[in-house]
Amino acid sequence: MNPIFECLLRELNVGVIWIDPMKRIKLCNPAAYRMLNSRGQSMEGRTLIEATLSYEMVSVVGEAQERGIPVQRELRKNETTGRIISVHAVPVVLEDQKGFYQIILMLEDVTEIRHLETVRRDFVANVSHELRTPLASIRAMAETLQNGASGDAVVSARFLEIIVGEVERLTRLLHDLLTLSKAEQEHLPERERFDLYELVQNVVERYQSQAEMAGVQLHLQRSVKPVVEANRDQIEQVLINLVDNAIKYTPDGGEINIRVMSSGNSVTVEIEDNGIGILSQDLARLWERFYRADRARSRQSGGTGLGLSIVKHIVEAHGGSVGVESEYGQGSVFHFTLPYNTYSSKGSSS
Ligand code: ADP
Repeated sequence: MNPIFECLLRELNVGVIWIDPMKRIKLCNPAAYRMLNSRGQSMEGRTLIEATLSYEMVSVVGEAQERGIPVQRELRKNETTGRIISVHAVPVVLEDQKGFYQIILMLEDVTEIRHLETVRRDFVANVSHELRTPLASIRAMAETLQNGASGDAVVSARFLEIIVGEVERLTRLLHDLLTLSKAEQEHLPERERFDLYELVQNVVERYQSQAEMAGVQLHLQRSVKPVVEANRDQIEQVLINLVDNAIKYTPDGGEINIRVMSSGNSVTVEIEDNGIGILSQDLARLWERFYRADRARSRQSGGTGLGLSIVKHIVEAHGGSVGVESEYGQGSVFHFTLPYNTYSSKGSSS
């Protein structure tokens, strides 16, 4: 084969299969091997059904051969490989084989695209749902006031309080949506050097009064003082979200302990509470957008359901990881780790 074509077929990300009129494979490029997961077996010389076990693919090829026109179809998700493949069969007649169609089959792996489309659709549906509830409440309250309730000072004050509360909720939602969107865009956030312990101390001080009002003790354990190189605002947001959650989900009389720990090549911040805890079946999905383990409590405390996904995005954009251990009814430990190799200094113990 012409070396240029050979190189093209080898490097293409599109799978290419040449099938003869008897539906036997004459040529198959590496991308097609990858997509069809042939487990190292040669596909050349075998029939399409033997090689792929896909009746759907054979039917696309059959249709293109019978009708003599290109046929494009997306195959159902393959149960074994979990991939969704879009196939495009183009009939070609060679000079000496009039009436018999060769088929050039092009395969495109659309699994990722379809997955992202589903995520986007779910996201829009979730945002709409989150907006609908406060908007419906604001409308109902405003209409009741409009229809005469405004004459009653006590009722008016109560309804206006609810309206303000719902507007605050919408504002928080908007803020979190923008933060999340920004975190998703910034794969390489701008960094500066700062003392992580000092930042944690700062956040803890700011949240002392909120903790006191909730009847919860908030302690920062004596820790190392690592100087890190990271986006200060974003790491502050991570701390705020985790500390805020710990206070929200720890009942009166509870205790929250925060630690900053340094290991050889990473620094970990741990936020431990003895609050309501999380059921094991909820743990894996907790970092998803809008996933709430305790819907009622989240709503009652003004949660948007976005806090932890913001945390995950920011930490992972810094090359770090997040985690949680929890026992229902006993409490939770949320932690995040940032690798030292993205920092210019390892810091020192205090
Ligand atoms: P929310 O705004 O609802 O708090 P998050 O994304 O911050 O959203 O958290 C997702 C869910 O995880 C919460 O709704 C809550 O059910 C659970 N959660 C988060 N932090 C804690 C915690 N410290 N203790 C118990 N449950 C928690």
